[in-house]
Amino acid sequence: MAEVQLKNVSKVYEGGNIAVKEINIDVKDREFVVLVGPSGCGKSTTLRMIAGLEDISKGELYIDGKLVNDVAPKDRNIAMVFQNYALYPHMTVYENMAFGLKLRKFDKKEIKIRVNDAAKILGIEEYLERKPKALSGGQRQRVAVGRAIVRKPKVFLFDEPLSNLDAKLRVQMRTQISKLHHSLNATMIYVTHDQTEAMTMGDRIVIMKDGVIHQVDTPLNLYNLPVNKFVAGFIGSPSMNFIEGKILQDNGVVFKSSGNDLSIKLIGKQEDTLKAYINKNIWLGIRPEDIYDTASMDYKPKYYKIDTPLEVVEPMGNEIFLYFFIDKVQFVARIPAREMPERGKIRTLMLDREKLNFFDFDTELAIR
Ligand code: ADP
Repeated sequence: MAEVQLKNVSKVYEGGNIAVKEINIDVKDREFVVLVGPSGCGKSTTLRMIAGLEDISKGELYIDGKLVNDVAPKDRNIAMVFQNYALYPHMTVYENMAFGLKLRKFDKKEIKIRVNDAAKILGIEEYLERKPKALSGGQRQRVAVGRAIVRKPKVFLFDEPLSNLDAKLRVQMRTQISKLHHSLNATMIYVTHDQTEAMTMGDRIVIMKDGVIHQVDTPLNLYNLPVNKFVAGFIGSPSMNFIEGKILQDNGVVFKSSGNDLSIKLIGKQEDTLKAYINKNIWLGIRPEDIYDTASMDYKPKYYKIDTPLEVVEPMGNEIFLYFFIDKVQFVARIPAREMPERGKIRTLMLDREKLNFFDFDTELAIR
C-alpha cells in the first residue's frame, strides 16, 4: 500500500514568494497521478515537497497514512526521476543503477539481481558496462528510471522526465512508463507541462495554475466537463476557441458576440440555463472538432452556419486545421482531410450548438 496525501499544503520561498497555496491531493494506492500546468504553476515545488527536497511551509504530507513532513528524504521510501537524468558520468550504467543500493548496504548478490531485473524490464541489458556519455538521450533516461526501479520504492516521482527527448522518443518512453506502471503496480506521481503527456498517462490529472489547483479529475472528465475557462483552454490541442459576448432575449435566448459576427439562438438545456444570464457578459467556448465543414458534414438544424474566408489551412495528414476570424478573434476548426480547402476562399463552416460551452465572464467558472 502506498497512498500519498497532501492536506492544505503551502510553500512560501524565502523572500515571500508563494509557490503553492493550500493544495489538497489524495493519491490512491497504485494510482498514476499527473500534475500539469504552465511553467511556474508550482508543480515541481509540489513534487519536491513530496520527495522531501523542499520543506513544507504549511500543511501536512502523509505517505501511507504516516505524517512525513519531518522525515528525511532517504527514509520516505520514494524514488525520483529527474528531467536531466542526474547520472554519474564516471560510473557505468551498472554502477549508476547499483549506487543507491550500495549506499544502503545491500549485499552484492541482491544488487546484481535487482539491477539485472531492472535492466531487463527497460531493455538496457546490453549497455550495462557503458558510461552515460556513450548512450543516447532515451537510453540515459531509461537508466535514470532503472535507478529508481532497483530501489523498489513505495512511490515513484517523475519530474518532467521526457522533456529532453525528441518528439518520437517521447511518445515511446510515454508508453514505456505507462507499461511500467502496470507491471510494477506502483504509485506514481508525474509532473509535466505537456497536456498530451498528462492526458495519455494519468489515471487522474491535477491541473495547477499560479500555485492553486483548478481541477483534479480523470482525463475524459477534464476534457468534457472542465470546471472553468482555464482548464477548458489548457486541455485539448488545438485549444478550445473562446469569444466574448452577451446573452440577449430576442425571440428566444441568444448569444451575441461583442463584434456582432455571431448571433446564435441557444437550444436545449442551455436555453434554460442561460436565461439567468440575460443582458450579462459571458464567454462562449467551442472545441475545434465541434466546428464542421459543409463539405464533410451534412447540414442539420442544430448547426449554426458561418461564411468566412480561411486565413490559414494546415494539413496534418489525417485531418486539416482551418484558421479563420470571428470578431477579429482567431478560431480554429479541425476537419477530416477529404480535399485541401483553399486559403483565402470563403468557406461555409458550422458550429454545433449542442457543443457550445459557456463561462461566467467574471469568475470564468463553467456554466452548466
Ligand atoms: P513549475 O514546476 O510549475 O514550473 P515551480 O514549482 O518550479 O513551477 O515554481 C513555482 C514558483 O516558485 C515560481 O514562481 C518559481 O519562480 C518559484 N520558485 C521555484 N523555486 C524557487 C526557489 N528556490 N526560490 C524562490 N522561488 C522559487
